[in-house]
Amino acid sequence: MNIIIYIFTFLFGACVGSFLNVVIYRLPRKRKFLDFQQRSKCPRCRHLLSFWDLIPVFSFIFLKGKCRFCRKRISWQYPLVELMTGLIFVLIYWQYGLAWQSLIGLIGVSVLIVLAFIDGLHKIVPDQISLPAIAIIFCLQILVNPGEYLSLILGGIFGATWFWLQWLISKGKWVGSGDIRLGALLGVFLGLGSALLAIFSAYIIGSLWAIQLLIRGKVRLKSQLPFGIFLGILGIVCFIFGPEVVSWYRELIGL
Ligand SMILES: [Zn+2]
Repeated sequence: MNIIIYIFTFLFGACVGSFLNVVIYRLPRKRKFLDFQQRSKCPRCRHLLSFWDLIPVFSFIFLKGKCRFCRKRISWQYPLVELMTGLIFVLIYWQYGLAWQSLIGLIGVSVLIVLAFIDGLHKIVPDQISLPAIAIIFCLQILVNPGEYLSLILGGIFGATWFWLQWLISKGKWVGSGDIRLGALLGVFLGLGSALLAIFSAYIIGSLWAIQLLIRGKVRLKSQLPFGIFLGILGIVCFIFGPEVVSWYRELIGL
């Protein structure tokens, strides 16, 4: 029985991932992503895609990663986002079960996936996603976890202030103003403990990534890293595993 629930959760996640791909593609191009009249087309030959071209993950496999009409290679981003979203939904269900916290998780990780990919591809963190997400997730968290209100408020304030200070000191060179919103979002999504964990692990992994790029001569010291990718991914990891790591660490230092 359980396995069936997991399979359905994965398929549901993959379908949500398919929608997230549409948002990631359309939003930076200033196109309405909620317009369902506007059907998906191949970005090269503009051929309208049918139901068979749009089945999450499976279409990519059956079409061997190419457009059915013009044979143009389909970006890896599409199956990657679908697979990722499916797997993350499964992990959330595994960790939180059938609970309101899982619903908050599904909304939060979907937003983080969109923001991480848009930041990675276009180096922007769009306000029209981040700002409503902060408000909605904060309200849901307070409704579901009223006892955690202090941790959520402090998390949001810490996340925003941390990036705002860097933005102020560096005059916007180290981090973009979008990272301030992303910091606040992580705070209200994760609460103070896990938000700290996510932000600092993002720094560690982000720096290691930057160092290997520098060594391989792929970037220069001055080029800006799309830090949103690391914040997004670590935010998701910390939503799923953070509470355990935080309580383990508290035990370790005897807090
Ligand atoms: Zn095509």
